[in-house]
Amino acid sequence: MGNVLEELTDIEFEYYSRQIALDEIGYSGQVQLKNSKACVLGCGGLGVPTMLKLTAMGVGHLRIVDRDIISISDLHRQYLYDFESIGKPKVEVASEKLRRLNPNIEVEPIAEPIMKRNIEEIVDGVNVVLDGLDSMETRYLINRACLNLGVPYIFAGVIRTIANASTIIPRKTPCLECLFPGFVDSSMPKCSLVGVHPAAIGVISSVQVSEAVRILTGRTPKLAGKILLFDLEDLSFEKIDVTKQEGCAVCSSQRAQLTDMPERYFEEECARDGRRTFVLTPRVRVDVDLDRLVEMLEGKGMKVRFKGKLGVSFIYSDFLAASLLKSGTMIVQAAPTRDPGASGDETIALYKLVMVDWLGYPPEIVPSM
Ligand SMILES: [Zn+2]
Repeated sequence: MGNVLEELTDIEFEYYSRQIALDEIGYSGQVQLKNSKACVLGCGGLGVPTMLKLTAMGVGHLRIVDRDIISISDLHRQYLYDFESIGKPKVEVASEKLRRLNPNIEVEPIAEPIMKRNIEEIVDGVNVVLDGLDSMETRYLINRACLNLGVPYIFAGVIRTIANASTIIPRKTPCLECLFPGFVDSSMPKCSLVGVHPAAIGVISSVQVSEAVRILTGRTPKLAGKILLFDLEDLSFEKIDVTKQEGCAVCSSQRAQLTDMPERYFEEECARDGRRTFVLTPRVRVDVDLDRLVEMLEGKGMKVRFKGKLGVSFIYSDFLAASLLKSGTMIVQAAPTRDPGASGDETIALYKLVMVDWLGYPPEIVPSM
């Protein structure tokens, strides 16, 4: 936030009039929101309702980050998407719809996986980071990057009917790894297996937006040094005081290390629409020329299902459908085979074909299983 704040236009004043009327926000709070930047990591179940509220409430610059495409099983809780969105990159559809909802703000979509190599760039320059993730390992990365850059991070998570949240103010409150150390994603329950109630997501999304607005308007967040536990089943809210872990390796050191975190270039996600889903990420960052890719696909007689600014979806064979993001990440959906290893191998072969043989990138960028 600079020293000279940009005032509201007449249209903005009318747009936000019902929240400007609140003592808790007021005209000056609205001006502060307009002049602030927030980042929502993940455009899925938790990210979507969170970014909808931040957009409509007038946070002036919203950075959104995701590397996934939209599936039919997203629609019951990810209200920015509809049947026409299926197969398209989430950030692409989300940014277009958010801009239509509130043309007064700037939306900055980033279609990349969150990794060691880009996390500090992603959270740099924003006033607050909000959680829309389902991976603890990725959250640890965010926790560390936010500590290093001094950016407040609102942690939130939902599974089944249970949700929790905490506001992490770097060097003041306990960090995420004081609260929940040592979680490994592979041993955590997955929404696709145990389910998630959209109403529980709605509640915790509202809580984290409320915390973000407090931070951006210069008020004290309610969940700094506390964890909120919420269960939709008995409508219970519990706030628990938490303290820093003495000697926490992450927030006790001058600079939190990113190097010991795992980096995954090949991942298998939960199956969607009965198809195995793989995510492949180049070993170095690239910027794919999507026009050229579409030309090549069409030249080879392949069906291009979607061509956007941030990604292209195409059908390679009866067996494989793929989306390639501009950042070089490919999401491949494979029909089930009798041989469980086959889909993974064929996925990597497809990645190599497109990236190395067709687009001319060096073979070193291709991930392995
Ligand atoms: Zn800590």
